[in-house]
Amino acid sequence: MRFFGWSWSLGRWRDVDIRFHVSMVLTLPIAYWLFGPIDLRSWVEALLWVGGLTLFIFLHEFGHAFAAKIVGVEVKSIVVWLLGGLTNLAYKPEKPTHNFFIYAAGPLMNMLLAFLCVAAYVLLTLVFLPLAKDRELYIWLQTFQNLFFSLALVNVILVTFNLIPVYPLDGGNILHASMEWLFGKTNADRITLAVGIPCLILLIIFGVVSRDWLLLIFCVLIAFSISSLNHTLLKNLNLALTYFFRRSAYYYLKGDYERAANMYASQIESQPENPRHYMTRAGCYLSMGQKERSLADVERVLKMHPNHLLALELRGEFYCPYTGSKTPAFRRQFSTPQ
Ligand SMILES: [Zn+2]
Repeated sequence: MRFFGWSWSLGRWRDVDIRFHVSMVLTLPIAYWLFGPIDLRSWVEALLWVGGLTLFIFLHEFGHAFAAKIVGVEVKSIVVWLLGGLTNLAYKPEKPTHNFFIYAAGPLMNMLLAFLCVAAYVLLTLVFLPLAKDRELYIWLQTFQNLFFSLALVNVILVTFNLIPVYPLDGGNILHASMEWLFGKTNADRITLAVGIPCLILLIIFGVVSRDWLLLIFCVLIAFSISSLNHTLLKNLNLALTYFFRRSAYYYLKGDYERAANMYASQIESQPENPRHYMTRAGCYLSMGQKERSLADVERVLKMHPNHLLALELRGEFYCPYTGSKTPAFRRQFSTPQ
């Protein structure tokens, strides 16, 4: 992906190229916004937080890469970027148990790091802070206490977010691997979509309600990735959604043109000035081989809107010596009816 090309290499670990994406620069303004540093102590806290966040994202990916190496899968690179990381495997393992291990290793690493941060926080609170007699030292220790608390929180957020069962997040991959192991690949695709899509919709609703634009951008990226899972299933899902929200289009997509045409006819009755209903009914008639009725609807549209581009195009094709039942303009416009 070109987006991930905007990164620079920081070194190699066992032939794995470790890269940092340019978006990581944005962690600095985010830390400034979160901590609002005004003195040396708060600047140190903010910068250590940025360092910690970067390190935790890297170690999450390192967990995936390390697990992949254990099961014998070659790892090409690790890219650390603002919204997480990316471990590029040379190929996806065949065995679902290997996939499960690789995808679970990232969140497991963050669980371990969260535990270490909490341990450091508890140690500071119960041991070092009560011993500090000097006021300056006490304030510095308190700063580190706050820092470890927020870093523990960062890891908890990374674990929670990555374990959301939406493909291609780790949670979605873990779910897919478990279901593949139990029920086979085809069923695993179905189950992953059936669980993942409602979760994604909930995430989008949450993003809209809380005006979390970063989350919404992330949802769009996930939605694009989800489409790689199974095209046929997505087509069926689209059909199911169409059934609930646009019944006439559903019948059209199912090939029940007569029923769809009747539904468009009642839509024409309630909104006789809307050209879209005529055009879609024309599409139904044409699919039924009723060219005359189809042309009549196209003419009605042109009477209302003489410059209607699609109607003009369709009428032109009705009169040109085109032999197929569906004209090129028709196929372009009605593969997904309105
Ligand atoms: Zn991960």
